Amino acid sequence: MIFGMGPIELLLIVVVVLVIFGPKNLPKIGSALGKTVKNVREGMEEGSEDKSDEAGSPIESHDDVEVIEDDDDADAPEAAASDAVFCSQCGAKNAAGAAFCSKCGNKLN
Ligand SMILES: [Zn+2]
Repeated sequence: MIFGMGPIELLLIVVVVLVIFGPKNLPKIGSALGKTVKNVREGMEEGSEDKSDEAGSPIESHDDVEVIEDDDDADAPEAAASDAVFCSQCGAKNAAGAAFCSKCGNKLN
């Protein structure tokens, strides 16, 4: 009788899952829950599979939002570039300690 539950039982399950997994995994839980609800609905009213598939896709698209946070590391290469020595002959960028241009061999400094 587990899958013969109503909205209140589903809500209780959501709360329990939140307590176990924490708010961080909410998007994953949402998509997992969507599939669960989908399966339940398919079991209860057979023949409505197409509707359930549409309801599942918007939830999964939310996973991409988290990837944006990693942009802080982009500053590291720029900091290194400020120490670089530019060749007076060809303008090539060389490492700060380089004695000769890596591109044309011109003596630096
Ligand atoms: Zn050069």
